Amino acid sequence: MAVLEKIGSEEAMALENKYGAHNYHPLPVVLSRGEGVYVWDVDGKKYYDFLAAYSAVNQGHCHPKIVDAMISQAKTLTLTSRAFFNDKLGPFEEYLAKTFGFDKVLPMNTGAEAVETAIKICRKWAYEVKGIAENAAQIVVCDGNFHGRTTTIISFSDDVNARNNFGPYTDGFVSIDYNDLEALERAFESNKNMAGFLVEPIQGEAGVFVPADGYLSKAKALCEKHNVLFIADEVQTGIARTGKLLACHHENVQPDILILGKALSGGVYPVSAVLANDSVMNVIKPGQHGSTFGGNPVAAAVAIAALKVVSEEKLADNAEALGQIFREKLSEYIKGSDIAKEVRGKGLMNAIVINDTEDSSTAWDICIALRDNGLLAKPTHGNIIRFAPPLVMNKEQLIDCVSIIISTLKQFENR
Ligand SMILES: *Cc1c(COP(=O)(O)O)cnc(C)c1O
Repeated sequence: MAVLEKIGSEEAMALENKYGAHNYHPLPVVLSRGEGVYVWDVDGKKYYDFLAAYSAVNQGHCHPKIVDAMISQAKTLTLTSRAFFNDKLGPFEEYLAKTFGFDKVLPMNTGAEAVETAIKICRKWAYEVKGIAENAAQIVVCDGNFHGRTTTIISFSDDVNARNNFGPYTDGFVSIDYNDLEALERAFESNKNMAGFLVEPIQGEAGVFVPADGYLSKAKALCEKHNVLFIADEVQTGIARTGKLLACHHENVQPDILILGKALSGGVYPVSAVLANDSVMNVIKPGQHGSTFGGNPVAAAVAIAALKVVSEEKLADNAEALGQIFREKLSEYIKGSDIAKEVRGKGLMNAIVINDTEDSSTAWDICIALRDNGLLAKPTHGNIIRFAPPLVMNKEQLIDCVSIIISTLKQFENR
């Protein structure tokens, strides 16, 4: 039995392959330690982490302040359920509400649960406040969206892999083109039962699609005009990733419903939350929504510590500054490149588009070569490679990483 022993990478991969469901296709590297911007594999080889657990580890691996908060709370009280009050939840809710400028918080665990929560709140608001007829409420979403993996959420995905053979699907969603304000206006005007517009401020999983400047603020204005809730899924873009605390802040947009997850805990524990003002949040009454673990004392202590790290270490400003350098240096290289077509993104949420067909293995092969050169990244949607390191990176490390990326791309030029 491998459970008690130190295992090698071949054995670790073989075990996952044999005993684990095959619902992921991991890059072949077996990690056993992390600190800041670095991770180490079981053989002690060190890598820059350029995925940061899909932006959950913005504060860096094993941040001591966050880990200490978890350990000390874990030794004191871990779970009460919401059948009773606990002494950590209130302070966490106050801290979160004040940090983001909302009246109230509904705590959950994972991103998908928080998205489900937002959908439920929006629908209830539609019937009880907006006055839409029973079961008629519609929520507008965008083509190429990624909001999680539950049955309702995949019902409005257009990714065949995420969706096929998981039907029957949940009704009540209308999908339009991303970054298309006219389509949004048409959707609102064609149906008086519109309750919400659920949107990622930058589409992450789709390949880091940054909408045109003004898209979010104009979409918010359209929502106001039509009495529709603007629901921002900032599970990936939030918590300083794009160079501001929220990606919506780039356009001074305050969503009606804000969804947070991932880096809300700095990646040490699953914590998500939905934020809204009283006029929306108060539609939820006792018994109508909940989760055994949502808002538990460990989650609360961890999330407060994680948010404090973001402000103390000025991670948003750092992401903004390093992101500029990253895109500048890579676009300079790409001008004369045959293998890379484009670099795009905001803050430290970036991607490069590989010059090959979507079904080619080139992006994957480049990620394998990056691994060999000491940097971990993963393709998203075929030929796009996402680059999203922990935000605690310094300039010297970033320059080092840019040179690893460029020298790796050079291996693939003009083949
Ligand atoms: C990761 C992600 C989710 C889902 O979060 P889970 O914790 O994996 O359930 C939802 N929305 C966005 C934008 C995400 O990136």
